[in-house]
Amino acid sequence: MKLPAVEIKSNQCKGCGLCIDSCKPGVLSLSKAFNLLGYQYAEYKQSGCTGCEACYYACPEPGAISIHKEKKVQVQR
Ligand code: SF4
Ligand code: SF4
Repeated sequence: MKLPAVEIKSNQCKGCGLCIDSCKPGVLSLSKAFNLLGYQYAEYKQSGCTGCEACYYACPEPGAISIHKEKKVQVQR
């Protein structure tokens, strides 16, 4: 997976679209398929995420969205 990237747990999504509206690069969209709860869910287009976390803070469902970034390496002197 190319980082940064967003991961959306489709079965925890209620399809409210807040993450899609909050994503300035426009890399999220609503699926055509339905999840186990009967909602269309947010999907990542698999490239273009900047790791800004706007979608994470917009989402009302705890745990539905995770942001993956490269770990910062601390240099000790
Ligand atoms: S972290 Fe930012 S760029 Fe990435 S999907 Fe979420 S809102 Fe879009
Ligand atoms: S904000 Fe959360 S619940 Fe709403 S569509 Fe996005 S991932 Fe799903």
